[in-house]
Amino acid sequence: MALPSSARLTIDLDALAHNYGVLRAQAPGAEAAPVVKGDGYGLGAGPIGRRLWAEGARSFFVARLTEGEALRAALGPERRATIYVLDGMTSGTAPRLLAADLTPSLTSVPQIEAAGSFASGLGRPLAVALHVDTGMNRQGITPDQAVALAQSRDRLAHLDVGLVMSHLGSAPEPQSPRNARQLERFAAVRKLFPDARASFAASAGIFLGEAYRFEMVRPGVSLYGGGPEERPDARLKAVATLEAPILDIRNIEAGETVGYGSSRVVDRPTRVAVVAAGYADGLVRAAKATGHGWYAGAPRPFLIVTMDLILVEIGDTPAGLGDMVELMGPNAHIDDLAAAAGTVAHECLVRLSPRAERVYLGET
Ligand SMILES: *Cc1c(COP(=O)(O)O)cnc(C)c1O
Repeated sequence: MALPSSARLTIDLDALAHNYGVLRAQAPGAEAAPVVKGDGYGLGAGPIGRRLWAEGARSFFVARLTEGEALRAALGPERRATIYVLDGMTSGTAPRLLAADLTPSLTSVPQIEAAGSFASGLGRPLAVALHVDTGMNRQGITPDQAVALAQSRDRLAHLDVGLVMSHLGSAPEPQSPRNARQLERFAAVRKLFPDARASFAASAGIFLGEAYRFEMVRPGVSLYGGGPEERPDARLKAVATLEAPILDIRNIEAGETVGYGSSRVVDRPTRVAVVAAGYADGLVRAAKATGHGWYAGAPRPFLIVTMDLILVEIGDTPAGLGDMVELMGPNAHIDDLAAAAGTVAHECLVRLSPRAERVYLGET
């Protein structure tokens, strides 16, 4: 019998739609604009975007110009979504932004100037968003620069600022005083632009309370099943399931060294399944320390993660060659995997590689 020999990545679009519904219900009255940067967190911005459009999404966020162009092409001419580009624009990228009908989220004074002078030649105002940094210290104009801008409106003469946005740095920690401090700054800034809508919360921020939600929220990781507090959240469903078949079952004797290097020594007789996936399929190698997969109804600790093979401890469970072991999914939760690897669910998702065979479930 031919055994399946490669990892399979199942992307469940019905689970995505479920999560979108959960996030929308959590932010009543606000538009929920999906964040599909990084090729839809590694899961395919095209199918993700089309399905979320079918679920009612009309605005999307990407990071790069090229991601915006790809999403516009994937949505096609009949789905006229607003696509915001978080990188903003420069005079060099302006024509391409315009050609793909993308809305830049301007992040600096030079960007605002470049957008203004480009727009002055258009004969109509250019739709833009304005990103204000309220304390993450990463991207956006300062609140002081926003005040100065609001006081000299001619600098915005050719721009139609439809959205004012900011981003939270500590939203997964509801107790952090940084959240309220950023909120206070953002509330003051948004008053400077009364005609614009305001957007502040990403996935985690949506769960911080009504004051954080404003008119638009920007969920990313929680659409794909990552919990807002970086641990599994039962309200959300896993969208990405990575599974791979058992190629071999081996018994390792006590005292033996396993895999590369000499750090992994088993202290007791250990029965393992050799699973046909590895970090070349995108499973974060660092998860080997305390990560686990799921097989025959129980968590199974990883012993080692190499490029193509993972050893999973299976104890004395009966196991068959070709059986699929879940490495990420509804049981081997992405937030647990991320914690084991010392990272966040976002990174576990975007690392998923094209080597794993992709299967989409649900209407695209
Ligand atoms: C990535 C990003 C988001 C989405 O964040 P999640 O934590 O994935 O929900 C929202 N807004 C901005 C500005 C971002 O960079």
